[in-house]
Amino acid sequence: MLDLNSPIADLNRVGKTTAGQLARLGIKTAAALLEYFPWRYDDYTRRTLIQDLRPGRPASIAGRLEIIQSRRSFRRRLHLTEAIIADQTGTVKIVWFNQPYLGQNLRIGEFISLAGPVEGEPGSPVMKSPVYEKISGLDEKAAPGLHTCGLVPNYHLTARLTQKQIRFLIKQAVSVTDHLPDWLPAEIIKIENFLPRAAAIRAVHFPANAAQLEKARQRLAFEELFLWQLKNISVRARWQNQPAEPIPFQSGLIKNFVRRLPFRLTDGQKLAAWKIFQDLDKDRPMARLVEGDVGCGKTVVALLAMLNAAAHQRQSVLLAPTEILARQHFETFKKLAGADSSLALLTGGQAVWRRPDEKSPDAKTGKKDLLRIIAQGETKIIIGTHALLNERVRFNRLGLAVIDEQHRFGVAQRQALVDKNGADGFCPHLLSLTATPIPRTLALSLYGDLDVSIIKDQPVGRKKIATFTVPEEKRSGAYRFIRQEIDRGGQAYIICPLVDFSDKLGVKSVKEEYEKLDKEIFADLSVAMVHGRLHAREKEKIMADFQAGRIKILVATAVVEVGVDAPAATVMMIEGADRFGLAQLHQFRGRVGRGLRQSYCLLFSDSQNDKTLERLALMSKYHDGFTLAQMDLKFRGPGEMFGTDQKGFPEMKVANLFDYALMKKARAWAEKLFAQDNHLSVWPRLAEKFASEDLDIHRE
Ligand code: ADP
Ligand code: MG
Repeated sequence: MLDLNSPIADLNRVGKTTAGQLARLGIKTAAALLEYFPWRYDDYTRRTLIQDLRPGRPASIAGRLEIIQSRRSFRRRLHLTEAIIADQTGTVKIVWFNQPYLGQNLRIGEFISLAGPVEGEPGSPVMKSPVYEKISGLDEKAAPGLHTCGLVPNYHLTARLTQKQIRFLIKQAVSVTDHLPDWLPAEIIKIENFLPRAAAIRAVHFPANAAQLEKARQRLAFEELFLWQLKNISVRARWQNQPAEPIPFQSGLIKNFVRRLPFRLTDGQKLAAWKIFQDLDKDRPMARLVEGDVGCGKTVVALLAMLNAAAHQRQSVLLAPTEILARQHFETFKKLAGADSSLALLTGGQAVWRRPDEKSPDAKTGKKDLLRIIAQGETKIIIGTHALLNERVRFNRLGLAVIDEQHRFGVAQRQALVDKNGADGFCPHLLSLTATPIPRTLALSLYGDLDVSIIKDQPVGRKKIATFTVPEEKRSGAYRFIRQEIDRGGQAYIICPLVDFSDKLGVKSVKEEYEKLDKEIFADLSVAMVHGRLHAREKEKIMADFQAGRIKILVATAVVEVGVDAPAATVMMIEGADRFGLAQLHQFRGRVGRGLRQSYCLLFSDSQNDKTLERLALMSKYHDGFTLAQMDLKFRGPGEMFGTDQKGFPEMKVANLFDYALMKKARAWAEKLFAQDNHLSVWPRLAEKFASEDLDIHRE
């Protein structure tokens, strides 16, 4: 007998290979299979009669197999299976390609159900490569198909698993849902009128109709948001329970520093800084998130806070997600902080100490020396990457931890950083920075563990980045344009989705594109390439060369997405743009327009799909990341689950983050329960679920 903990291999028709494929999706038990939700549904709720088939309109039909025959087409190197299906209204031709076993599988006289695209001419439609399955008959009593009628679930799969296979397996697993524990407190289920967990799980896989699917989604989305909120509340409570040393506002020093900056702070920057200074002066640790669109100037706000801590003899640390960014922050700090401060840079590949008043170039100390310098408190401001989380790193009176691009780090890493404070008994203040475009109301409930400051304004004089979706036939024009920009002193980024050539996906890869651009199109210019598989040091060198203008065109993957600053770059060209979320495209676009000159973003896409092109066109019209992120979610097709696959947002399987009403409800319940019993011991199943979940669901 199957139960929830049954290993996946106990299911019918799961051999070693299939079990291995499932394991790659993280599915090892029947229970895990049940939690693997579809991401969209094919709507085959209405059967079409054969006489009503119309080319261009996908359909689901049922009928009797009249004729089936296979042949080889040598010219096209294809194996063709052709069949005729009949129902009471007529007959239709079916064609399958390269499925030679079909001829043995299907017998004349059998009833089959089919679903798929309809082609051919009006009056003589043809179904090409439909999904098919045998059914017991054509009348009402016949069992409905699993793959070809109703709302048919589709799952994200690895290459070797098929939709049919996984549906067949989930159908088996669904038989044990009656034993599924419902960890949501009964009180909530009753008052909110939610489906019980077992019913919701069954319905999300095999919904009887759209209304039932919606109820299942509500329940599953709620529990996701509820756990998230519960976690936020408990993280915050734990955080604020610790003592922190107040760091008073060093007014004279900060005002002096601000006066010497080469620019005027925007109102948003001033306000965020002011809030931070107030937080720092408290005896509970700050937990503040500064959110602002790319280029709004979050770094200098962090620098102000760090200088303030240094003036109070407290160390502060800035954690960046990549080596390139850490290096860039180090350079910025050097430039802005002036000669009187001591700075350290520690990354996987670099250990640099810059002493106060040092006129000579930076001392490349050994890592060991730098660790000693940090541990003894000889330097107050430390910048680095994950390398800072290494156990050998010890801080000295750490008063402030800044996390740049906070969505790239989990709560655990945040904690690891502040835990390094050693024995002084105080918890450092925490400042997180993010460009993830989330409006205030949402940010407050989403990041309930943090206080939020939003920098809305951009420095004066910044221009909008003129954005165009460029049709393929104007490609050479686009290259001419890039050349023109470079002649005028500009530089260009060209972003491609993949590293290697991938015929299957038909998307431009960095290597392929680089070869073409370097050898043919821009043979006389310096072109370079960066991607995630290069060594950090190589990447570093290329980025430095690009920043210094020695490289004119940089062909890259998404690695350039965060924070890199090359003020002379004026063109951002993106291949396969439809493969990125709009918020992500907006982040790419934020890499240009950092100097004074007008900048441009050129989007290319192979897609012929009107919807896709319409979606990309939004990039020309809207210039703030939040609007774009929200519109992107609206652009999902019908029958798609919400969930989030946008960078920078917490990962949700079912919940739509823009569903404020449900979010608020989840928040209210989490607060209520937590206030009643912060150990959750009144609800043992919830407590167990909460403890077992790896709720650290921030993602890259
Ligand atoms: P982000 O918020 O995306 O991290 P940065 O902090 O990297 O942005 O700032 C982007 C650029 O804008 C940097 O070159 C920075 O020196 C500059 N900058 C920051 N604040 C201002 C300002 N108030 N006026 C003009 N330029 C500014
Ligand atoms: Mg930044």
